[in-house]
Amino acid sequence: MTDSPRSHGRLSISASVKPRELITPTPRIKGAWTARIITLFPEAFPGTLDLSLTGKALDQGLWALETIDLRPFGLGRHKNVDDTPAGGGAGMVLRPDVVAAALDQAAVGTPADRAQWPVVYLSPRGTRFDQAMARRWSQGSGLTLLCGRFEGVDQRVLDHYRVEEVSLGDFVLTGGEIAAQALIDATVRLIPRVLGNQASTEEESFSDGLLEHPQYTKPAVWEGREIPEILLSGHHGKIAAWRKAMAERLTKERRPDLWRAYRAAHGMDPMDDQEL
Ligand code: SAH
Repeated sequence: MTDSPRSHGRLSISASVKPRELITPTPRIKGAWTARIITLFPEAFPGTLDLSLTGKALDQGLWALETIDLRPFGLGRHKNVDDTPAGGGAGMVLRPDVVAAALDQAAVGTPADRAQWPVVYLSPRGTRFDQAMARRWSQGSGLTLLCGRFEGVDQRVLDHYRVEEVSLGDFVLTGGEIAAQALIDATVRLIPRVLGNQASTEEESFSDGLLEHPQYTKPAVWEGREIPEILLSGHHGKIAAWRKAMAERLTKERRPDLWRAYRAAHGMDPMDDQEL
């Protein structure tokens, strides 16, 4: 942990310190939602999470961040954490014994109920992360995230610890750290008081199964383009109806998958959408 005054709620756990000292309560609100991150690059955190509303909430102790450096769990003089893939091929694989030691450390003091505290490996093979998952996680007490590197992690440690695999999307990153920050950001902003204005998370994209309507602000005319007249009418009912219609149109055009799910959830025939 650094001595910087902005380090509240952040804690770097390293295997070289005594177990009792590994998880020291830092200035945070009692029971604050906590992200524990196992990574070879603890210096990547808090990264963008330190900015703006999530950073302010971190300083206020509304949530906490703890990194567990994987390196000290490595073996031998060089603290090796990886080895060549069984069966051959390019790259390196993180060893199960090394990852297990870090997972054991991360489990200290966490609830056994995985619904309360999920244990997640960031992986392109995982379940695709979405707003519903973020909402579920934000209602628990914390989360352990294992960031992979190289070719990934030995399968046996994932099976043995019943680690859930979650993906940021259908692309391959070099490591799990960017994905971890994205997941934490999406989750933390749903924790009460983090955003300040609760209503804003209820109206934005995905919260009701639709993409958000377009947004406008001043000036009223820009490059000859006007703000849709209805938004300047002051008629709240008509504005709400316009926004809903725009959200539906955008969702139908851009995301047929979301659109079908939305129609099914609202008791409409998922295929027959003549009325729009
Ligand atoms: N060989 C693996 C990719 C390894 S990429 C495969 O083909 O599936 C190295 C690490 O980056 C992974 O261990 C994982 O932690 C992270 N990573 C890569 N892409 C990701 C994604 N889409 N979502 C979440 N994590 C990802």
